[in-house]
Amino acid sequence: MHTRENSESIVATRYWHDLGDGRIQCDLCPRFCKLHSDQRGLCFVRKN
Ligand code: SF4
Repeated sequence: MHTRENSESIVATRYWHDLGDGRIQCDLCPRFCKLHSDQRGLCFVRKN
């Protein structure tokens, strides 16, 4: 039986900080996305 690997990987990243309200802010680009848990940034690459 063919099984497909999940191509998504979880990597601990830098350039973010905790906002203290359950969200984190990405500091990598000028959009400074504020992300809830499991939310993706505007770039659709970074995810909390
Ligand atoms: S667009 Fe992506 S890299 Fe830029 S701030 Fe948002 S999550 Fe971070």
